[in-house]
Amino acid sequence: MNQEWDIIVVGGGITGAGIFRQSVHLGYKTLLVEQNDFAWGTSSRSSKLVHGGLRYLKQGKIDLVRDSVLERQALLAELPGLVNPLNFLIADYKGQSPNPWLLRAGLATYDTLAGKWDHQWLSRNDFIMAAPHLNREGLTGGGRFTDAQVDDARLVLRVLLEGEAEGGTLESYTKATSPRREGDRTHLTLENSRGRFEVSARVVFSATGAWADQFSEHRPHRLRPLRGSHITFPGWRLPLPCALSFSHPDDGRPTFLVPWEGASFCGTTDLDHNHSLDQEPRIEAEEVKYLLRGLAFAVPHLELQARDIIGTWAGVRPVLSSGKEVDPSKETRDHALWNENGVVTMTGGKLTTFRLMAGEAMEEAAMYLPAPSRRGLFTFAPPTLLEGPVPPHLAQRLSGRYGAMAQQVAECGDLSLIQGSWNVWAELVWACRAERVYHLSDLLLRRTRLGFVLPGGGREHMEPIGKICCKELGWDAHRWKSEMEDYIHLWESAYTVAEGALW
Ligand SMILES: Cc1cc2nc3c(=O)[nH]c(=O)nc-3n(C[C@H](O)[C@H](O)[C@H](O)COP(=O)(O)OP(=O)(O)OC[C@H]3O[C@@H](n4cnc5c(N)ncnc54)[C@H](O)[C@@H]3O)c2cc1C
Repeated sequence: MNQEWDIIVVGGGITGAGIFRQSVHLGYKTLLVEQNDFAWGTSSRSSKLVHGGLRYLKQGKIDLVRDSVLERQALLAELPGLVNPLNFLIADYKGQSPNPWLLRAGLATYDTLAGKWDHQWLSRNDFIMAAPHLNREGLTGGGRFTDAQVDDARLVLRVLLEGEAEGGTLESYTKATSPRREGDRTHLTLENSRGRFEVSARVVFSATGAWADQFSEHRPHRLRPLRGSHITFPGWRLPLPCALSFSHPDDGRPTFLVPWEGASFCGTTDLDHNHSLDQEPRIEAEEVKYLLRGLAFAVPHLELQARDIIGTWAGVRPVLSSGKEVDPSKETRDHALWNENGVVTMTGGKLTTFRLMAGEAMEEAAMYLPAPSRRGLFTFAPPTLLEGPVPPHLAQRLSGRYGAMAQQVAECGDLSLIQGSWNVWAELVWACRAERVYHLSDLLLRRTRLGFVLPGGGREHMEPIGKICCKELGWDAHRWKSEMEDYIHLWESAYTVAEGALW
């Protein structure tokens, strides 16, 4: 690690991944360090939407929405199989805001900004056919439009690994502290299981998300960490042909029901996160109740209960604080860029616009750097055409998730589905071989999302998973047992509703 770095990026979420990828693309010698696993922070805990955010139109944020929907279209074109189109239904109920004319105008503007026309207004009867389980009382109809969906942690991995293939250096489980400027270089202390290292670069990027205040030399209070949580159901218990949005009966906040990887989830909440950022964020009983009240309103006949929930996850939004005691949902969702004496911080914003944010951050840092050897924003490697007997939908999925490595993934193991998920067994083998898996939780929560979509966090598949880990990672029986115990403890404490917590 002790090399003459041009750039060191701190934080391996989507913001750091984008800056790392862009920096390598421009020809700089770049190191990225992440204190935990890649995508361990908010970037594996989002609502998985690549979207413009229809509600930001209401707030007059036309530029933000335009940038986001154009970027959505670009990612759909570059990453088929990883970023996929998602149909959305948005219900209109008598007397609820926004009124249908405003909603219709919003949908038209949304598509116009994206340079496409793919929405329609549905009558009450058509809407009921499209969403048969939806509450019909007061329903007048609604809109249909398309956004996109992503596996957020896989997007981070794809960006990072393409940057590494082009010459960048990655280190996970490495914490950076004490940023300080000496002469024309910024110094950092790095710490991992191999020891402590002093390193320096022409410029350091802090892409530390909700940790940005903590990482900064002067420990300011610029961020208001806000937690958003989701609850997951088996696809058969909450059947969703497409995503649904409705206003929560308690506070009118937009609430989503989204089909994902064979399961269905409901989200999200938005409240102050008053816990240490060093602990895994977890849903609290009040949030479960809030989301269940939303479901009782939206899909009353399904009678969903806490006992139907198969998993949960919570993420912390790095939201810029207005410094006032306003409702969390009123705080701006814009990103922030601070340039402080050789440390450039990029935080806030959205997953969707990570590439634009990376471009902006690199421009801000130009004052510290020699001229780049290339210009423009990076693009992804083109989709891979797989050879051999791989079904077309799987070929596209592997190409989107693994880029140029897709053929090797398809050849390294069994291509049958892991029951209850959309993953194939070969993906576990590949992840162990080539994707820096150090712990079972890396494999089940971020390389694959089995811990998010399978009941019990995937416990029923532990035997074959154990065989793969022991063979590919060289774990012995003792290591496997302790990894499994740690994973189950983590899953039970942060990825499900604790038994008895609601009663
Ligand atoms: C509930 C929820 C739903 C969301 N839904 C969407 C959505 O659907 N679509 C969308 O576009 N956006 C969504 N967002 C926003 C989006 O997820 C975030 O903006 C984005 O993931 C933030 O990425 P990041 O890289 O800045 O932060 P993070 O992903 O949190 O990454 C920061 C990383 O820095 C690391 N780090 C911190 N300090 C150090 C240190 N000292 N040394 C080394 N590493 C360090 C952390 O471990 C962490 O991994 C959502 C956010 C939330 C909370």
